[in-house]
Amino acid sequence: MPNQINLLPAHIANQIAAGEVVQRPASAVKELLENAVDAGSTEIKLIVSEAGKSSIQVIDNGKGMTETDARNCFERHATSKISTIEDLFKIRTMGFRGEALASIASVAQVIMKTKRADDELGTEIEIENSKVLRQEPCSYPVGTSITMKNLFFNVPARRNFLKSNVVEQRHITDEFIRVALAFPEIFFSLTNNGQEIFHLEKGSLKQRIVQLMGNTYATKLVQVDEKTDYLDISGFIGKPETSKKTRGDQYLFVNNRFVKSAYLNHAIVSAYESLIPDASFPFFAIFLDIDPVHLDVNVHPTKQEIKFEDDKIVYAFVKSAIRHALAQFSIAPTIDFGLDASIQQLDAVSKPFTNSRQDETRSGGLFKSFVDQHQAHRIESSSNLSNWKDFFKSNPQQKTESQTEFSSYNAEPSAYHPATGALYLDEGTAVSQFHLTYIVFEQQKGITVLNQQLAHQQVLFEKFNSAWNGKGIPVQQNLFPVAVNLSPADMQIVQQVLPDLLKMGYQLEPFGANTFLLQGSPADYSSENDLSVIELIIEDVKDASASLHKSYQEKISKTLARKHAVKAGKKLTAEEMIDLVQQLSRCNHCITHFDGKPLFVEVKKDYLNMVFGL
Ligand code: ADP
Ligand code: MG
Repeated sequence: MPNQINLLPAHIANQIAAGEVVQRPASAVKELLENAVDAGSTEIKLIVSEAGKSSIQVIDNGKGMTETDARNCFERHATSKISTIEDLFKIRTMGFRGEALASIASVAQVIMKTKRADDELGTEIEIENSKVLRQEPCSYPVGTSITMKNLFFNVPARRNFLKSNVVEQRHITDEFIRVALAFPEIFFSLTNNGQEIFHLEKGSLKQRIVQLMGNTYATKLVQVDEKTDYLDISGFIGKPETSKKTRGDQYLFVNNRFVKSAYLNHAIVSAYESLIPDASFPFFAIFLDIDPVHLDVNVHPTKQEIKFEDDKIVYAFVKSAIRHALAQFSIAPTIDFGLDASIQQLDAVSKPFTNSRQDETRSGGLFKSFVDQHQAHRIESSSNLSNWKDFFKSNPQQKTESQTEFSSYNAEPSAYHPATGALYLDEGTAVSQFHLTYIVFEQQKGITVLNQQLAHQQVLFEKFNSAWNGKGIPVQQNLFPVAVNLSPADMQIVQQVLPDLLKMGYQLEPFGANTFLLQGSPADYSSENDLSVIELIIEDVKDASASLHKSYQEKISKTLARKHAVKAGKKLTAEEMIDLVQQLSRCNHCITHFDGKPLFVEVKKDYLNMVFGL
């Protein structure tokens, strides 16, 4: 047998390593921007075309590189940022592994120009497939420009995995915002297909937030600033009214690096407690600063995870710092808050928190259910119940009885079923509403109980979903067009999905730099929630970029269905109920809701007969 082990040539090893560093255009953008920051730049310009698929260029005015460094920086493990293993524990730069440029040069065609202040001439270098094609002196201002073209030109399989330009551009904008937020003292611009999307002058963090998120934030930010020996926290959080229905603008940075941490997000959001409605998400841009010795640096830097030496301390600290900030801000008279109506109505906002109110809260349902839940939890794990099997063993008689009991009264399988057959309603059948939530009627084999809200959502979902391919939902012109103010990033998204929105009956027209006018809304639907619907749709488009399989069209259909369907608690007339059942029976899926829940259950005649021994 001949030997079988090959040493991979450098360009293949680099391509494999590139898989970790460069998944998509946005990951290259992140690496290039971070390098520009690390180089001490005060001005960084990002220029992309076709969502970075055809080209990405980053121009900075940082310290530049020597002729030799210009060649070496594309080698793997080539870095100026660490030289000993001890350096690892004091990392303050964004990069340190020396992998990014090597990876980029293995999967794209790269041209770099760079010059240091001390040098007369700069260097221009062209590299492709990890091979230097050309290197020569050039005249260039101080700084570095790196252009990468045709990402994955030599790895077609990877190229095929890229998503639509809308989606890839969204990822690029996200990365850009994260870096731009962390360094407000640096000028940034982003130009996409020749159009300048962001032009961010240097300034304070607050100014940067407003530049990025839109003017509406100017008066809605609360400053957070606490220092300890272990950890500093600074940044801004949104006043309660900035909270949105979907997780959108929440930014957490550790040592200026954007991180994702469900744990710390929870610390921040829970500090808002009763100030915001459930399941809503406040804005924040929070910066933790901690000595790097208390961090685990071995978490791969391109991943956005973070590992603290002691995450409980960090959690407690973050939560109390946010509370403190919120408390200080709420000393101001309520009238200044400009809270929106739904928030204004929350007791926590509208009434002072007196002792008697504390008692009231304790006896309230919410509080009880919370406490009960925790009690249930405690009992469950106590030793008494863990012996329940023995209980049955020692009493065989009881065991059989209990088991019968289980099978007859527990839902499965014979008592009531998620429906098995089709849904139909014979003419003249009586329908009635139960608990303002269920529609109850007789079918041949039994009694059917249909959830009105889920049923209507399913009907609307299929309607909206088929409208994508058909004529679309008719538009009703608004007598008074409503202004929709958006951040530059959201403006971009909306711009790209304008035709889609029109398909769904929302007619938006650009009106100045940060505003659209809502000229028309879907006919036959209430327009009272239009603005929040549009907010949700933007979120859907952003979300869809994160998942591989779902198209945003389907997500939007679901959002619209949820928004426009009748709710539980609404009284329906007999005609409305019959109409709903009939519409549902004509749906492609009339048994299961698009979320997977059953739409109705049946209590079969056979089952009733059995119960009554007939
Ligand atoms: P890392 O950032 O982890 O060191 P990179 O592959 O991203 O690795 O970059 C390699 C090296 O090239 C850096 O350490 C730095 O010395 C140099 N470099 C990269 N980009 C720039 C730039 N824009 N300006 C100056 N030097 C740069
Ligand atoms: Mg780097």
